[in-house]
Parts: sequence; C-alpha cells; structure tokens
Amino acid sequence: MARPTRVAWTASGALVVVGAVAIGGLAAGAARHTGHDAPAGKALVRSHETSGSAERGGQNSRDTSTPIKGSGSRPDSVSSASTADVSISADDIKAFVAAHSAALKSKNRAAFIAGFDTKHPDLALHEGQLFDNLRKIPLTTASYSVSTVSGSGATATAVVTFVHQITGVDSVPVVERYKWTVQRTAANGPLEVVAVSGAPAEHNYPAPWDAVAGLTVLTKPKVVIMADDSSAAFAKSHASALESDAEYDLSHWTGGPGTAPGFAVFLTADRARYEGIYSQDRAESVGVTVPIAAAGNTGNIENTSGFYPSSRIAVDTTQYKNLATVDADIVFKHEMAHAMIGPFDDQSAASGQNHLWVVEGFAEWESQRMYSTADLLYNGVSLHAYLAKHSIPTALPTDSQVYSANADVSGLGYFYSHMAMRYIAAKYSPAKVDQFVLYVYKHATGSTCVDDAMKNVLATTTVQFTQGFEKWLRSSV
Ligand SMILES: [Zn+2]
Repeated sequence: MARPTRVAWTASGALVVVGAVAIGGLAAGAARHTGHDAPAGKALVRSHETSGSAERGGQNSRDTSTPIKGSGSRPDSVSSASTADVSISADDIKAFVAAHSAALKSKNRAAFIAGFDTKHPDLALHEGQLFDNLRKIPLTTASYSVSTVSGSGATATAVVTFVHQITGVDSVPVVERYKWTVQRTAANGPLEVVAVSGAPAEHNYPAPWDAVAGLTVLTKPKVVIMADDSSAAFAKSHASALESDAEYDLSHWTGGPGTAPGFAVFLTADRARYEGIYSQDRAESVGVTVPIAAAGNTGNIENTSGFYPSSRIAVDTTQYKNLATVDADIVFKHEMAHAMIGPFDDQSAASGQNHLWVVEGFAEWESQRMYSTADLLYNGVSLHAYLAKHSIPTALPTDSQVYSANADVSGLGYFYSHMAMRYIAAKYSPAKVDQFVLYVYKHATGSTCVDDAMKNVLATTTVQFTQGFEKWLRSSV
C-alpha cells in the first residue's frame, strides 16, 4: 500500500525562527548570517499514519467503483430498465469527459465549461477559472480521462483523472483525481456536472489551479512558481532567488540520475488556503512537500508502485515576507532538497528502520551546506553554545524525536540530524552523504536500511558511526 508522505515546517517553529532572527541577527550583526538559526524552528514532519490510512481509504473506495479499462466497459449498476431514458452509462461519461479534454486541448473555454453551467453557475465560474489557470501553466501533456464510474439511474459518480506533466518539473505524467457527480435531468438530455471534489485519498487536490482565481504563474528553467494575490508580489520579487535555490540543490547532487528535474512551488499568505492546498494534513506547517503519483500505463489508473516521481511544494510566505532573502532561501532549498530526491524514496510500505534523521538531516544539510559550522547560528546562538545547553547524543535521533509535537524536542532532533550529515560530509565527503541518503531512500522499507547504508556506503557500523559522531560533535561544534 502506498505511503505518501509530506514533509513540512511547523508554524510554531516558524514563529521561533522570526524571534531568533531578530535576536540573533541584531546580536551577531554582520559577522554572522541571520538565517542560520532557522533550524531551531524547523520541525519537519512526515505524516505517515494519517496519509497511510487515507491511502487505504482511497483503495477501499476505489474497490466499490467500476474501473474503466477500455471502450465498451460498462458498470453494472448505472443503468436499469425503469430509468432507461435518463440513466447514465459509463460510455456517456467517457464521451462527456473526452469532450472536456478536447476543449482544453483546443483552448475552447466555452466548451470546457459546457455541462457545468445549466443550474450551477458557481461550478461554471470555477471551471472557467480552472481553464484560465491551466492556460498559464507550462504543460507538456494535459488530458482528462475516466477511471471509475459508480451510481445508478440518473445520477452517477465518476473519478476523473487529470493526467498532466508540468514542463521541467515532472519527469513523467502525473495524476490529479477528481470526483464528479453527474446527472441527467431530462430524458435523453445532456449530462450535467452538479458537484466536483477531490477523489477519495487524492493528495494532489486541490491544486493551486483549482483553489485560486487568477493564479499568478512565473516560469523559470528549474522552477514553476504559482501564487495567489496574497503572494504575487513575493513571487515576483523572489522568482530569481527561487531559481537560484533550485539550481543550487540540483547542482550539488552527485547521486546520479533520477532526481526531479525541477520544482513546482505554490506561494500564499492565506493561512486557510495554505492548509487546504494539496489536501495536506499538517495544520502546523509553513512549508510542505507533497509527493504525487505517476499516471499508470493505461493513463487512467494510478501507479501504486510505492514510488512517487514528482512532488509539489507549498509555502506559507507570511513568515518570510519581512526576512532577509537568505532566510527564505533556506526554506526553499530545504523543501526542494526533499522534492529533488523524492523519486528515490520507496514508500511502498512502512519505513523499516528509524531514518527520519536521514530525510530531514539531508534537507537541513543541503540547505545550509555552504556555511561553515562556525558561521551557523542556532536558535540565536552559535552551534557550540546551543550544543553546550544539551547533551551529546548517545544515539542517532529516533523518528519519534524528529516527529515530536514538542517543538524543543523536535528542534533538537533536527539539529542532531543536520549535524550527523555534516559529520558524514566532514569525515567522508559530501558525495558520501548523497550516496548514503540514496541508499537509505531506495531501501527505506528494509528493516536494516540504515545499518546497511552504514556498511555498504561508509564501511562502518551504526555503533561505530555514532561513537565517531559523538567525538566529532565534541571537537568540531
Ligand atoms: Zn524537511
């Protein structure tokens, strides 16, 4: 069963960031970068349990519907003799959706919203906004198809899949699945869509193009930036910086092909909108990376291999509008680091060994690797001073520590995770960090994925590594 995970910064942490920047920045002056205390506020949480159960829910709901596998496939339940004149067949819906898809391809706005406007002007308005938004997105492919149909008589429910590929961002076509409720109100009359929502367990809905009227879209070589009105100015003023952040992460990667080619980033300062985007379920986050599924071989059915070829990033810009660019850069580099290597992550089952310290440690290290340990601030103080307040760890951070709802516990977990990666880079090499993380990602469901990476990549044991890490922390931080 797929286990899509999201990685996010917590809002409570972000508030700590703001305070720390103000204190650290003023106290340290120009001698130190003020952005580096950001880790104090970072509690980047992957919500395995919630999304996992949601995925199972999605599977269950799919089981109750009838997959459309080819022309002529017809669900048993959507027609009956007594309602033959108004009943809706699967072929009816397929034809309706095909017309919708053709309208998008031919840039025919009126045809795109046809069927949404009879008695539901709100839906028609929304579909028109969707059409206008999609026209702004660089899309290599974009089409609609029917995955499942269920219902009876004059009302049917269809899972409609938007197969699309954002140019420069998605290495392969990906999916966003909608649930359409379709009715036929008169004998032999046209079909009418009376409700649209995300399909059960759909993680890519609502996308910004669904949620925002008048979406701002800025396209750079390695990043497609989307923003609502609350962050349109931020998007424009930070577009070049985001492109630089993307190139920064991508240029560092030495682990071979298979990374995300680029990134889709949505910006908003509207808290409710941020929390609702991509159905993310981490209300406390201020930045999130959501993995999304590939289109299946048929173009209709979701790929359930457990590997997610692409991601979507969303950031609540509220915390970053008044900060120096470097502060925002760290956030974006961190999230892009997750998205960059997300395609390698085996999410086909629960993680086999605690390794959130690898996931978050890599994103932390990658986003701040250009700074020396001596230059970094943490929670407004030097790393040395911060470490002096806490014990030298005797073990690597556990998932529960990194996940902790207690911001202090989580913050310390992120600190140790970051330092462990910094230790690998110092003792071995930055390339070994990439190899180590890649190994863990590819074997994430294995019960000894970290132990095996220690052995196969670093030629050591987890015990020996931890001892060396402790020694390095004492002498180098
Ligand atoms: Zn993270």
